[in-house]
Amino acid sequence: MYPQTHFLFPFFIGLVLSKLNVLSWELALLAGIIGVLVDLDHYVEHILHAKMNQFSLRATWNNSIKLHRFYQRSFIHFEKGALLVTGVLVALAFFSWQVSLALAFGYYSHLLLDYPSMKKERRIHLRIGHLYIREPYMEIALDVLLMVGVLLLVL
Ligand SMILES: [Zn+2]
Repeated sequence: MYPQTHFLFPFFIGLVLSKLNVLSWELALLAGIIGVLVDLDHYVEHILHAKMNQFSLRATWNNSIKLHRFYQRSFIHFEKGALLVTGVLVALAFFSWQVSLALAFGYYSHLLLDYPSMKKERRIHLRIGHLYIREPYMEIALDVLLMVGVLLLVL
């Protein structure tokens, strides 16, 4: 999934919980930011494996979206990472269960959203400057629904 979806989904859930006085809006925002930051491993993997443009965010993006020269997901996207993160979140929950919950929404929603294989879904194909965009229409529809939900919750 694309970064905006990884942000919007946990942010929306966090906002719903803030309406129920479970989380603050700041922690809802943190959940959304964590949802995006999980994919920083793509950049680290790019630095480790790329033959050229090692530190280029654009090359990292295009490899992830279109070129697929090497796999960019690290252990953090799989079982070992989930076990490690779960341990950290459980330990953190003893200090602040609300911060732990916000981080958990960001992290686990990221894994959940990355799981569905949408390789056969119809996609929009764009090229903005040197960046490739190949987002499935279903993901765009989900983004629109989440944005409407977020707007309804904040207005
Ligand atoms: Zn991911």
